[in-house]
Amino acid sequence: MARYTGATCRLCRREGMKLFLKGDRCYTDKCAFVRRSYAPGQHGASKKKLSNYGVQLREKQKAKRIYGVLESQFSTYYKRAEKLRGISGENLLKLLELRLDNVAFRLGYGASRVEARQLVNHGHFLVNGKKVDIASYKLSVNDVVTVSEKSRASEKFKVFAENPKPLPKWLTGNPDNFEGKVVAEPAREDIDVPVNETLIVELYSK
Ligand code: SF4
Repeated sequence: MARYTGATCRLCRREGMKLFLKGDRCYTDKCAFVRRSYAPGQHGASKKKLSNYGVQLREKQKAKRIYGVLESQFSTYYKRAEKLRGISGENLLKLLELRLDNVAFRLGYGASRVEARQLVNHGHFLVNGKKVDIASYKLSVNDVVTVSEKSRASEKFKVFAENPKPLPKWLTGNPDNFEGKVVAEPAREDIDVPVNETLIVELYSK
């Protein structure tokens, strides 16, 4: 499975904001964006005004980077979002939120989406009782995500269960049973990513 392998903190610096891609480190003063809050590269520190296209492009790049999705996959999500009923931009975010790696992250398994994805890839999760190790697997309402019996005994998962995160409205969780459930489709107001999806729609509509 293809994934971005470059320097992660560069992505935050490029987008001009913390994207929280590295988990705990992002909350410390070791965060590269705290130290150098300007774009990477030779001319990164010089300010230049973006064109409309540039603003739209940056918004798409930001969304891609937050969810850890590459270009072609992101464009496929957009095409699917367009075909769904409702507002394309919101549909796009819904589809991204319903990825198994994102749901695992929302349930508190992993300090970042990158870590949650790794846990999924390593086969630690079941969906409705069946092992799923595909990070992009799309969950639906009423799907139940559980940690496999074997993984529950590991120190890592015990720590996750002992430190549950607040859940968005569309998810319920039972950390004692290592279980989470999708109880509704995510509504836009319940998706706390700093993305203006309208700009992404404008970009793809050109
Ligand atoms: Fe971004 Fe986290 Fe790196 Fe800071 S430490 S620049 S928030 S990935």
